Amino acid sequence: MRKTVMSLAVTATVGFGTIFGGTSVITEAASISSLKGEQNKIQEQRSGINSTINQKNNQISDLQNQQADVKSEITRIDYAITDSTNKIKEKTAKLESTKAEIMKLQGQMEVIKDRIEKRNVLLKDRARSYQETGGMVNYIDVLMGSENFSDFVDRANAVVTIMQADQAILKEHEADKQELEIKQDEVKTNLASLEKMVSDLQTLNQQLSAQKAEKDKLLASLKEQENEAHEGVMDLQEQDALLAAQQAAIQKAISMEQEAQARAAAEAAAQAAEAAKRKAASSSNTSSSSSSSRVSSGATPGVSSGYWTQPAVGYLSSGFGVRGSERHAGVDIANRAAVPIVAAADGVVIRSYLSSTYGNCIFVSHSINGQVYTTVYAHMTTRMVGSGAVVKKGQQIGVMGNTGASHGQHLHFELHKGPWTQDKRFAINPVGIVPLP
Ligand SMILES: [Zn+2]
Repeated sequence: MRKTVMSLAVTATVGFGTIFGGTSVITEAASISSLKGEQNKIQEQRSGINSTINQKNNQISDLQNQQADVKSEITRIDYAITDSTNKIKEKTAKLESTKAEIMKLQGQMEVIKDRIEKRNVLLKDRARSYQETGGMVNYIDVLMGSENFSDFVDRANAVVTIMQADQAILKEHEADKQELEIKQDEVKTNLASLEKMVSDLQTLNQQLSAQKAEKDKLLASLKEQENEAHEGVMDLQEQDALLAAQQAAIQKAISMEQEAQARAAAEAAAQAAEAAKRKAASSSNTSSSSSSSRVSSGATPGVSSGYWTQPAVGYLSSGFGVRGSERHAGVDIANRAAVPIVAAADGVVIRSYLSSTYGNCIFVSHSINGQVYTTVYAHMTTRMVGSGAVVKKGQQIGVMGNTGASHGQHLHFELHKGPWTQDKRFAINPVGIVPLP
């Protein structure tokens, strides 16, 4: 019985000692009041968040409407292309049949020309035989040989009839020839107009195809803008959790840096004292200098000297800034291989979770020379550190992926000079600050 009371008393003493012990009382009181202030700030931000979400959603539906418009235009163009292609086929078939008709007419023409030629030869032969044999005299003989006037008239009529018949045949041929020529001209005109129609249709088809290509490009860019807009939409709870976790992470990151600086100062002092000692002994050795080279191991980016290092190997598939109607608050590093993602600097993980938009994402708070920075790593396949974890520059925190509002495997990397906020007003271009591919 007595033992139990004793142990309780000890426990109580230890407990109180922990809570109110030493200088931590002042620090904690200060941090509690400052946390309250931060909490108020978070509440203020929350009221602004709703309007931002509405704005984003309007932007998304606007982009979706634009895409629907472009799609219906593409459908219209597709119909027009089908129509003109069918017309080209139809007119080309007609063109072929017209050409065949022209060939046929030319054949007919050849026959008639041949007939006319032969008839002409025949008539010329006859005319020559009249001259040579005194043909006209022969006719006269025929006429003179008539027995009486009635016989003369008969004979004369016969001669005339023969001559007229010859001429009538020739005239008929000429008429046929003329008719064929007219027909051929008509068909040739028809052919020319068909040829023009086909070439016009082909031009139209080319124009339509060019229009379609343009619309396809527009559609792709609208789709990309929509993806970016989706990437920026977070629900209230998600933002709230992030903002709340951020306060703790920022404070931890700041105190970590202060501790590290204090350690470095102590080390420097110790080294100075050591150096002074050595100088006194007048035997100076070569001091070891820290190498500041980047060591690369293929899939993992080499760790740079300085405060920042490259978060992933790959290529820069999208830069920071305005893209269409959308602002891209980060940079995209793409890679076909599922490469490691590393922390860009020493820091504290604000949150490590699965977001509907950012996919598997990690938010890290950094304190660098008293300046707070925030980095975001989105769309990962795997997360390897949890919320609140302390990470070192170059430490692997996940694997590149394609989760959330992502189309194609890449790392969406954001750098904020200050805390993360819904409107991402502190987002800056990491180029020139963080080593990038
Ligand atoms: Zn991105």
